[in-house]
Amino acid sequence: MYRASSEQYESSGVPDGQAQDRAKILLVDDSAENLISLEATLDGLGQDLVLAKSGTEALRYLLEDDFAAILLDVKMPDMDGFQTAEMIRARKRSRHTPILFLTGYKSDEHLFRGYDLGAVDFLFKPIVPEILRSKVTVFVELSRNTALLRRQADVLGRAEQKFRSLLEAAPDAMVISSEDGQISLVNSQAEKIFLCRREDLIGHNLRTIVPEWRCLSALNGSPREVSAIRKDQGMFPAEISLSPLQTEEGLLVISAIRDMTERKSAMDAIHQLNLTLERRVAERTQELFELNESLRHSNEDLNQFAYAASHDLQEPLRMVSLYSEMLRKKYAGRLDEMADQFITFVVDGAHRMEMLLKDLLDYSQAGTFTLGTAEAADCAKVMENVVLNLQAAIRQNRASITWGELPTVQAHEIRLVQLFQNLVGNAIKYRGPDPPKVQVTAERRDSDWLFAVQDNGIGIKPDYAQQIFGIFKRLHGNSYPGTGVGLAICQRIVENYGGRIWVESTPGAGSTFRFTLPQGTSPKP
Ligand code: ADP
Repeated sequence: MYRASSEQYESSGVPDGQAQDRAKILLVDDSAENLISLEATLDGLGQDLVLAKSGTEALRYLLEDDFAAILLDVKMPDMDGFQTAEMIRARKRSRHTPILFLTGYKSDEHLFRGYDLGAVDFLFKPIVPEILRSKVTVFVELSRNTALLRRQADVLGRAEQKFRSLLEAAPDAMVISSEDGQISLVNSQAEKIFLCRREDLIGHNLRTIVPEWRCLSALNGSPREVSAIRKDQGMFPAEISLSPLQTEEGLLVISAIRDMTERKSAMDAIHQLNLTLERRVAERTQELFELNESLRHSNEDLNQFAYAASHDLQEPLRMVSLYSEMLRKKYAGRLDEMADQFITFVVDGAHRMEMLLKDLLDYSQAGTFTLGTAEAADCAKVMENVVLNLQAAIRQNRASITWGELPTVQAHEIRLVQLFQNLVGNAIKYRGPDPPKVQVTAERRDSDWLFAVQDNGIGIKPDYAQQIFGIFKRLHGNSYPGTGVGLAICQRIVENYGGRIWVESTPGAGSTFRFTLPQGTSPKP
């Protein structure tokens, strides 16, 4: 059987896209002559024409393809047009395909039967080509529109499917409602969060689950904290953010609702932890403050004790010193040799004791604030005083004392004199074989002044660099005069102004005592 296929049209130069757009029309007639004439009439429409010589053949084609229309001859041997139409209608695929009966008889019986079988129209032979063409054109249009509608429905269906999947994939409860809150769609997360089924939500107002829900226009778009209600009437904290959804039916509102119960309790726990921490810190600070206070008190007590002891001991000691001196002057050489030696021991011991007591007194006072508020003290002037005080030792040792540009600091001048004098005095006392050379410098370092007192003396072993600042700590025994209190006093003064003191030294190569004083130094409260 001859079939006017799309390939035929393609080979005649019709572009691909057009070939696909062409509708298929099934022409069924037992007469080849009629078929050819039908084909010739419809050829100009540019559609795919499929020719069948019998009902059976037509049914076979209908198994494989969808047709825009079937032109069916009524009178055919074996299976006539009506029988064929019956079978066509019986199949799901072709149930709605328009059938145009071609008949030579214009009988009512034919018409009734034909229309009963769902025929769309009748064409009476002899066929008028224009009428046939215009009717077929209408069917082709109809089929095109139906196909278009089907495609659009498909696209819409897929888009809706995608939208629903997106809605389902969201981690939050998604509720779609009208502007006044009437719910039309929810996702399964909403069922979980609100402990109810979709049907319990759809059709109800969003305010039944989120009483504070306000329409989009009332919000600025940012998430808002609200209280939400579960089906069991339990309230829970939630965060809601709304966004508009413009649809053909008008504006819809998407409400994304997040259950904040866990986050809130985590935040509460963190808040509690912070409070506990803050309380602990406050407690510890108070404890430290109290400890500091009690340390300060015991320090002051100790100072007072040291002061009182050294001060009160001075008087009886002066008596011992005075009378032992008198004893020596009056009885030296008049008693035996041993008695002379004993008297010498007593006199020396009393002198030494006097020195110790005096230094101890200085030490106990170096840490007190009896001097009042510190004024600005010029360190260069301090050095001039020091040199004056140490004149005898300087001359005796042929020492040279030099200093560069020295700053003015907020400190008590008398303390600075004590500090510099102890360090310069030691630099002369612990001299090496060469005449002592002492150099005092100062430079800025961060917020401090860094002072250095450098000498060319005997030096100190690094192991003792810390010890020498302890009270009564001495490294060179009785070969040098002294009580071992000088550096302890220096440390006390420096620390009292918030600074630090240390020594850098190489035995035999001299020592450098360094200390810091904060710029604008005044004693620590
Ligand atoms: P002292 O009355 O013995 O001089 P200090 O407290 O001033 O007491 O010094 C403690 C010890 O540190 C000294 O006995 C001495 O051994 C050592 N010392 C201090 N200054 C120097 C220095 N410039 N060079 C070497 N040794 C020093």
